[in-house]
Amino acid sequence: MHVDQIIANALLVDGTGTPPATGAVALTGDRIMGVGALPGWTADEVIDAAGLALAPGFIDAHTHDDAALLGGDLAPKISQGVTTVVTGNCGVSLAPLRLAPGASLPGPLDCIADPAWFRFDSFAAWTAALADAGTTTNVVPLVGHGTLRVKVMDRIDRPASEGEIVQMEALVDEAMAAGAFGLSSGLFYPLAAAAPASEVTRLAVRAAAHGGVYTAHIRDEGDHVIAALEEAIGIAADAGLPLILSHHKVSGRANHGRSRETLALIARAATRQPVWLDAYPYAAGSTMLNERSCAASSRTLVTWCASRPEFAGQDLADVARTLGLSEAEAIAALQPAGAIYFMMDEADVERILCCPETMIGSDGIPADAHPHPRLWGSFARVLGHYSRQRGLFSLEEAVRRMTALPAARFRLADRGVLAAGAHADLVLFDPDAVADKATFADPCQPSAGIHWVMVNGVRVWDQGSATGARPGRIVVRA
Ligand SMILES: [Zn+2]
Repeated sequence: MHVDQIIANALLVDGTGTPPATGAVALTGDRIMGVGALPGWTADEVIDAAGLALAPGFIDAHTHDDAALLGGDLAPKISQGVTTVVTGNCGVSLAPLRLAPGASLPGPLDCIADPAWFRFDSFAAWTAALADAGTTTNVVPLVGHGTLRVKVMDRIDRPASEGEIVQMEALVDEAMAAGAFGLSSGLFYPLAAAAPASEVTRLAVRAAAHGGVYTAHIRDEGDHVIAALEEAIGIAADAGLPLILSHHKVSGRANHGRSRETLALIARAATRQPVWLDAYPYAAGSTMLNERSCAASSRTLVTWCASRPEFAGQDLADVARTLGLSEAEAIAALQPAGAIYFMMDEADVERILCCPETMIGSDGIPADAHPHPRLWGSFARVLGHYSRQRGLFSLEEAVRRMTALPAARFRLADRGVLAAGAHADLVLFDPDAVADKATFADPCQPSAGIHWVMVNGVRVWDQGSATGARPGRIVVRA
């Protein structure tokens, strides 16, 4: 067999969790043609990858990259080996929402993009714009319940009326027909907090009718985490579709250690219905600046502030002192703004990462002036810090949580594995050197040890730089 390219002598970590073995991967065009010893195969180009690991490109199961895909080269993601991003999480998708000029954007929609980006009246208009512009990575889009509320409701501090629910149902149908993989919600946020479970269930039923999933940023990840998990599990059960619990965590000092309870609850529910989860590998969270999250945190760091951009990267306590205000007054004075919250326990983070069902989702916020380091570091941190250094799981198990597992959960055809016929989404990295470099102080740093990254057979990241290629596709549901 003659192919375009053979990557030879690599440590093949195939995504399935099988122990790695040295071998070759053969490519032609956008597809993998063969994997293994490949005796007698020839190629136009043979790359010797001795000493390096070759894996399927990583799938970021939880992102807010809806606008970033249109705007830039997605360097924060491709620099750590990500080749596919799941967008529209936490109830906040970019589409379908066209904002009138000068209209205000309720948080956390303002965390994902500037108001000017909200210019797509339908989901199909946004996916068409992605196809026109081309994208660096592949895209797995979700439609957000919060976005639909802003689109159809005159005010968001009340449950939707029957007429508004009917309008939102039609918008879910439109999004699913235009390629969405499911519905997301963020009942934690003021944008959606007034919505009862029954409102979300009605929309989840529409997503279920199209074979979609439901991803949930639950109503409370602190004192009432169990009730909030039960609510999300109930919505998915009533609507009859798989549930993905977003960025699973327990927050607030009083709740440290309660991941034992939450993981047991999730495991029990999973015996009755499909319940899955994603997590990011850090003990700090990040979202819009709000009192509730500050109260649960030992330290709060401002990530962006529209009125006082100079505060990005500073401790809220220092900002309050500078302004001569209490922290609560400073939170009110800085709006709209975003923050990082040190509110989880490292033991809970490790326990959740160790769950074999946990996919890795960065939850990175690309529009932030001083983002949480999870944006640039999550995948390299799982490989370097948690697998190699802490020994939480093997290299092949770390790779499985970032590849074949999310590909199966979101039903991505022919992705997430090294296998003949699969799309050539690949990452070549040094397993002894791969490490996150992004820190809370200096968060926009590419990871170490990533040699190159390929999306659909085309290199998008090569020896420390984005190539500018845009070979990504909107993935089609299997
Ligand atoms: Zn969220």
